[in-house]
Amino acid sequence: MLAVFRVLYSSRSVLRAVLIGLLVFAASAVAIRFTRFGGGPACLWFATAILIVELVLRPARAWLWPTSAAMIGGIVATGLFGIGFGYAPLVTLCTIGEAILAAWLMRRGGGSGADLGSLRGVMVFIAVAGGIAPAVSGIGGAATIALATPTGFASNWLSWYLGHALGNLTLAPVALLALNGEMFAGIARMRWARKLEGVGLILATIVVTRLVFGQTTFPLLFVPLLPLMIAAFRFGRIGGAITIVILATIGAAFTIGGNGPVRMISGATHERVLFLQFYLATAVVMTLLIAAELNQRKRLMVALRASEARYRLIADGSTDVILTQTVAGEIDYASASILPLAGYHPTALIGVKAGTLVRPDDLPVVTKTHRDALSNPGATFMVEYCGLKADGSMLWCESHTRAVTDEDGSVVGTVSVIRDISRHKQLRDELSQAAQTDPLTGIVNRRAFDVALDQRLADVAAGRGIGVCAVLDLDFFKRVNDLHGHAAGDTVLCAFADVARRSLRADDLIARLGGEEFGLIIWNADVLEAKAICERLRREIADLSVATGFGDEVRFTFSGGLAPIRAGRSRQHVLRHADEALYRAKHAGRNRLELAS
Ligand code: GH3
Ligand code: MG
Ligand code: MG
Repeated sequence: MLAVFRVLYSSRSVLRAVLIGLLVFAASAVAIRFTRFGGGPACLWFATAILIVELVLRPARAWLWPTSAAMIGGIVATGLFGIGFGYAPLVTLCTIGEAILAAWLMRRGGGSGADLGSLRGVMVFIAVAGGIAPAVSGIGGAATIALATPTGFASNWLSWYLGHALGNLTLAPVALLALNGEMFAGIARMRWARKLEGVGLILATIVVTRLVFGQTTFPLLFVPLLPLMIAAFRFGRIGGAITIVILATIGAAFTIGGNGPVRMISGATHERVLFLQFYLATAVVMTLLIAAELNQRKRLMVALRASEARYRLIADGSTDVILTQTVAGEIDYASASILPLAGYHPTALIGVKAGTLVRPDDLPVVTKTHRDALSNPGATFMVEYCGLKADGSMLWCESHTRAVTDEDGSVVGTVSVIRDISRHKQLRDELSQAAQTDPLTGIVNRRAFDVALDQRLADVAAGRGIGVCAVLDLDFFKRVNDLHGHAAGDTVLCAFADVARRSLRADDLIARLGGEEFGLIIWNADVLEAKAICERLRREIADLSVATGFGDEVRFTFSGGLAPIRAGRSRQHVLRHADEALYRAKHAGRNRLELAS
């Protein structure tokens, strides 16, 4: 409460209110004195605009002083020059009410009050200050004037509405931009050349308007619209607002004085003024809308440029390649990282078919990903493929692709983030290799052998070939360890694996099943042929002498059991049969082979 009083009674507020009161008095007096025709309301009413702007810029708790001052100014002017002191308070109340209604609606509709830089803000301003508020206040105003003078309500209402709407639309923008600081900030930011251009444009507007309205020979009313449009295009709402005031002031002064091209219209003065009002209103609305639309585009451009710079920074700084393609698959942008990665100059790739950078084997899957992305906007598709570098070598890539859409939502291309996964891929291959290899001998392990045997069982079942499975076990291997040491035992295991590997054919497989036991798959051979192969190996091993590194020589043998890989049998079944044969070979004296019964 105390704070409210402090604001109300602060001398600045009071002084400011006195100024508003004086301005409203002057504007009302001039309007009543010079723009009243036929005894009705004034045709060009600027007084309300002054109060609207003052109220829009201030919080509602600070409205009392300016409103009261404007009320006094209005009553005095109307009393002295208009319809007399008897009806003056009622008419002025309508004017003040209009300003309050307009300011209240604009603050509700435009957030901060009036944002003439946005199309929405301008629409709200035009609808409120040029529509609702004067139309409503006109009811009371026209009725009062009809009572006070020998005029009709309907014609009064129309004059009131047009005079007030036009006054509001013409003066409020320039007053608003001046009082909220936008105009001075805007002018202060301008360079000298631009300030000169602005001054030149204002002078040109004055000269052109003066020439057009200073003659009555040609209906040249369209000519002043040119400097107005140029001002709006070059200087936005500030340029628009200033030139509007120039056009309205000069146009009204000449027309009311009975001069200018409007005089070419036959009819009473108030009819000519009505025409001028329509003319000015059209010019004002057009200028404000164009200025707002341009400003909106400028804001958009600035935001777009900032975002473009931001994304370019990310794209250029990224080690991944960012690549955009048209719907037809032509590259329209590639980020800088494609040069160090694949040796292509980004600009040289523009217009190139993206498919030419892909290994032909992978082209179908890459093309499918592009098509999938195009037909599913919003979803991201991943593909791994081999890319072709500029020097012709290969590069493993992982690409994440999604559609790019325009503002209507229709797909205009794709954007892909492409990563070099060569190292990752190599590591993965090495890991999967390691998972299948026996670390001591370097041949495949039990797990890989199981997979291979299952595969061969399936091949046999499908009639793709025949094969034999053999299980080989070194004889008295415990003794090798005991006599020569564990390291010598390892050397013997490696020697056996080397010899066996070399004695097998490309389609055969040898694996270390565990300890000193090995598994063989002999492919495209029946049991007898397989036995012959194993027999050859047996003799080779029996003749072999392995140096342990300590001057020792180790000689050893192995026994083996063979079982055919038959359709319909399980892996376990085949291995058990081979094991049983091995068992028999051991019992029969070792260093020999047995076939499964
Ligand atoms: P048999 O002729 O009946 O097969 O006799 P064997 O001594 O070979 O059979 P046994 O199963 O009794 O002994 C196998 C030995 O193999 C026992 C173990 O110490 C040895 N062994 C298992 N894995 C390794 C290995 O990786 N390195 C070495 N040096 N020895 C191993
Ligand atoms: Mg053994
Ligand atoms: Mg054994």
